[in-house]
Amino acid sequence: MRIDEIANLQDLCTGCMACVDSCPEKCVIPILGKDGFRYTKIESSRCTNCGKCYAVCPIDNIKKHEGQQRLYASYAKCNDVRKRGSSGGIFELLATQFINRGFYVCGAAFEENKLFHRIVNSNSELRALLKSKYLQSNTSGIYDEILALLKEEESVFFCGTPCQVSAVNNYIPEKLHHNLFTADIICHGVPSQETFDMYIESLEKKSKGKVTDFSFRVKDNKYEHAHGFTYKITQNGKTTTVNGLYPQSTFYNGFKKYLFFRQSCYDCRYSSLSRVSDITLGDFWGIEKYDFTGNTDTGVSMIITNTPKGEQAFSALNEQVMCKEFPISYGVESNHCLTKCTDKPTDRDEIIDKLHRDGYDSTALKYFSSDITQRIYLLMPTSFRNLLRRIRRG
Ligand SMILES: Cc1cc2nc3c(=O)[nH]c(=O)nc-3n(C[C@H](O)[C@H](O)[C@H](O)COP(=O)(O)OP(=O)(O)OC[C@H]3O[C@@H](n4cnc5c(N)ncnc54)[C@H](O)[C@@H]3O)c2cc1C
Repeated sequence: MRIDEIANLQDLCTGCMACVDSCPEKCVIPILGKDGFRYTKIESSRCTNCGKCYAVCPIDNIKKHEGQQRLYASYAKCNDVRKRGSSGGIFELLATQFINRGFYVCGAAFEENKLFHRIVNSNSELRALLKSKYLQSNTSGIYDEILALLKEEESVFFCGTPCQVSAVNNYIPEKLHHNLFTADIICHGVPSQETFDMYIESLEKKSKGKVTDFSFRVKDNKYEHAHGFTYKITQNGKTTTVNGLYPQSTFYNGFKKYLFFRQSCYDCRYSSLSRVSDITLGDFWGIEKYDFTGNTDTGVSMIITNTPKGEQAFSALNEQVMCKEFPISYGVESNHCLTKCTDKPTDRDEIIDKLHRDGYDSTALKYFSSDITQRIYLLMPTSFRNLLRRIRRG
């Protein structure tokens, strides 16, 4: 990769922003692309051609682990922990284990509806990092913060998308990796912060209120569903909570249909069984098909240990988890992201253009409102819906 190519990656750029942190001249600048995603540009007059930006770029520099992998279906025995997580709550257990050992933990957290990667080192701060947030997090600046901690002989647990983990791996010099532990999530693509902002703005306009505390993957007894959402809305000093299933949120529905992901996600170089992290965390969709005796109603995680470090950290949770090992082929069978990237919907480019041309509401109405089958499903009593879901899962 030549120096000018880093500035011309366009569709390949994953938006990890490691090149911004890496530049000693501070001449790699974050910019907002026409599609609403973050890209970078180089101020060439100040560039010294040192090559640091392309050394950290995760597009061509991919170091996947080659050792033996093990696959598990697992969830936290503690029901509260399991409910706080998107799938089985394993991230919280791992992060707590690391905090108790004196690590700093880095993961994605909302701050006033904007998603950033941030570093915490206490169990109370960890709460903000829990659960999947279905948009791209801003990682600008985080690489320098992790490097500074590791240089001070501190230890860091980083959790993010595979491309973000790869950027961290590239950014941190090999000699400091012994104090770094990484987890990647099985990711099938990310929408932009900008599309999420448009959605929140639309909710606020319609309700004449302020939206806070948006959360995906809410699990409660009423819905007993893997894709519920909740948020708070404050109107004239009064705050109410809105709950729903994903087809009732246009943004969540569009995400589930892969409609407005970053272009590079449809050409992801990390959608394979070989991984870049110590441990991979995902959902074990379809676990009911296999010989697993645990309760599957509130989320089961798919865990892949990729290194001895990953295996050791997971087995240390032994007392706290329900867990069964399966052949690695079961993971590939039930999770398409472990073999191929997400297919790009034919409407995707038109949707991105229309969002910018005509605004959120008319685009949502045309492309991501609930369809007739979803509306019938939503009209059913919860008990009947849950019964249907159980029958479908066998
Ligand atoms: C955009 C996205 C797409 C996903 N797609 C799939 C999929 O197709 N198949 C599958 O099996 N699993 C997918 N997952 C992973 C899954 O939703 C769970 O995050 C994972 O199983 C961990 O669950 P948990 O209960 O252990 O922990 P959780 O508490 O749910 O995990 C929380 C941690 O996940 C990380 N995280 C959350 N949101 C983001 C984000 N936007 N960017 C980077 N890191 C983030 C953070 O570090 C966070 O602290 C996806 C997650 C995200 C964020």
